[in-house]
Amino acid sequence: MLTINEVRKKFGVFTAVDGLNLEIPSGEIFGLLGANGAGKTTTFRMILGLLTPTEGSITWNGKEISYETSDVVGYLPEERGLYPKLTVREQLIYLGQLRGMSRSLIQEQTENWLKRFGADEYLNKKVESLSKGNQQKIQFIAAVIHRPELLILDEPFSGLDPVNVELLKNAVHELKKEGTTIVFSSHRMEHVEELCEHLCIMHKGRSVVQGNLKDIKRSFGKKNVSVKADFDLSYLKDTNGVVKHRLTADGIILQVEREEAANELFLAIQSKGFVRKFELEEPSLNDIFIEKVGVVHE
Ligand code: ATP
Repeated sequence: MLTINEVRKKFGVFTAVDGLNLEIPSGEIFGLLGANGAGKTTTFRMILGLLTPTEGSITWNGKEISYETSDVVGYLPEERGLYPKLTVREQLIYLGQLRGMSRSLIQEQTENWLKRFGADEYLNKKVESLSKGNQQKIQFIAAVIHRPELLILDEPFSGLDPVNVELLKNAVHELKKEGTTIVFSSHRMEHVEELCEHLCIMHKGRSVVQGNLKDIKRSFGKKNVSVKADFDLSYLKDTNGVVKHRLTADGIILQVEREEAANELFLAIQSKGFVRKFELEEPSLNDIFIEKVGVVHE
């Protein structure tokens, strides 16, 4: 288990992480969310031992994170961290050897991963000659080549096309199945909804929501009603219990205070024309994020 206990990080007088507590059980995919500047990368750097917390402690399976634990951790940083002049092969051999791997094991792992990512042809190409998305794939391989117990992924899907997003998601799922604990940050709520059971939303260095995704949604209270019809639905926004609304190309999505308000909406659309869809939906993670953090996110 990864335990973050009352962690604070100050840069001069500025507090980037402010009394963070997290428990991430092993074998889970955990999502760390937050607006730009919320403190996610700073938290990751502390988990990795690259930054020392000003206060508090971080432990992996009861042990303080230090240089000795670095081999059990893998890290995909938000910024590119590869050597542009090295070939993919040289790069991965160098990084694998730093992790204590034998050359033959590195070669075997490299071949497996490149094949799986449809990137065998890049083995002897210089990193700088690869596209941004392909560099991201190589950087992912560099983070997992030594089969870490704990994998930290900072914005792993940024810059990837939809096909590569799927490849990476599948790889993440498989690593989880093999027992890897994965913590990742993303600004894309749909990725977090799809991959994570547990998550934490950070705001100005603090945790504002934390727990199981289903429980978070349930306890949010508000729900969405999605309506599609062949007549103008904008009048529904004035119905009792509607908190917010958003017009879509062929209908409207209304956020309601409680699910009982859906009844009023149902009555309000009757005998007005042809209704294609009327559905009461759970709030999306995006709805929750916007309410808790108070900003529109992508
Ligand atoms: P993003 O989504 O934009 O990547 P983030 O949640 O990862 O944001 P951090 O990079 O952790 O945010 O930054 C948190 C805050 O700490 C920011 O206000 C940032 O400017 C500040 N900060 C981070 N590193 C340093 C540093 N070395 N010195 C001073 N301030 C820093």
